[in-house]
Amino acid sequence: MYHHESYWWGQSPPLAVEGASDLPDHADVVIVGAGLVGLTSAVLMAELGLSVVVLDANVPGRGVSSQSTVKLSIAQGLRLSSIEQTRGPEHVREYAHRTLDGFELFLQIADKYNIECDLEKRDHILYAMSPACVDRLRHEVLLGQAHNSSFAAQPSTTPWRATYAVTMPDQFIFHPVKYLYGLVAAAQSMGVQIVAPVTATQLSQHAKNGIRVAGAHGNSRIIADSVVVATHVPITNPAFQFARYQQIRDYAISGIIHDDADHWATVPMTLGIDSEEPSMRTWPTPEGTRFVVTGHFH
Ligand SMILES: Cc1cc2nc3c(=O)[nH]c(=O)nc-3n(C[C@H](O)[C@H](O)[C@H](O)COP(=O)(O)OP(=O)(O)OC[C@H]3O[C@@H](n4cnc5c(N)ncnc54)[C@H](O)[C@@H]3O)c2cc1C
Repeated sequence: MYHHESYWWGQSPPLAVEGASDLPDHADVVIVGAGLVGLTSAVLMAELGLSVVVLDANVPGRGVSSQSTVKLSIAQGLRLSSIEQTRGPEHVREYAHRTLDGFELFLQIADKYNIECDLEKRDHILYAMSPACVDRLRHEVLLGQAHNSSFAAQPSTTPWRATYAVTMPDQFIFHPVKYLYGLVAAAQSMGVQIVAPVTATQLSQHAKNGIRVAGAHGNSRIIADSVVVATHVPITNPAFQFARYQQIRDYAISGIIHDDADHWATVPMTLGIDSEEPSMRTWPTPEGTRFVVTGHFH
């Protein structure tokens, strides 16, 4: 039996939120996009005492954030090396610090608002299959250690038949929809209004009053002092998206492991750095040990 939608969606029914007709005329902050980025921003802004409205084009918490591998890790493949190459060492330091900030912020919010999201500590193994990638992985670890005191990756046993591997201890896995719904509850408890479906189509300066966010549903519009765009993709007229985006075929596949399930339930997460290697994690569920594998070029 195959389901062509995120496994985590099936665990939690869509949230009922306010509709476009409930949109107020003004808010201190309008956040466009109710994914991990938008909802985290909503909680942080509400903590500052600001009035916050979050708009989402579809169902809150059902964007990319709930369709990924859902690893919380500061080891992200060859990200630091790539930033070093394209932007220079200053940006590597900045990115490494901000990554650690984000990692810690996630844990603080989960703890502060008692968000039950199946958070579980896991080691994260990065591995190289081809000898050509070994030096690249070693360089990534050196960069991480130089810029981030928590980047504790050490050479380790290799999974599969990899040539070289490092293990980053004490990273995390979690259930994305439970976490996102927890953010919604935390935000709403502080008065944040979450309104959907409203597709923001235009941001424009509105005289001296602030920024006007115009939406597609029911001609909705709202004026805000500040706007946070957390849509993951640019706000455009969907009719022109084909001209602005490059399509990449990607996938996330989840299934049940039958053989040696208890062993697989707690194995470290893995991420291959060779371009054709996938990202993988497992976790225990009431129906057995599950895996999710994501990648592309397969
Ligand atoms: C296959 C895959 C695996 C990944 N694995 C990991 C991982 O293991 N760990 C990790 O940290 N990251 C991972 N990522 C990346 C991570 O999932 C994303 O960076 C993150 O979820 C983006 O969050 P977001 O809030 O920006 O986007 P989203 O969760 O997509 O939220 C954006 C929201 O904006 C709404 N929206 C869009 N346009 C508009 C509009 N015009 N008006 C109103 N609303 C709009 C959408 O409906 C959506 O709800 C993975 C990504 C993929 C694709």
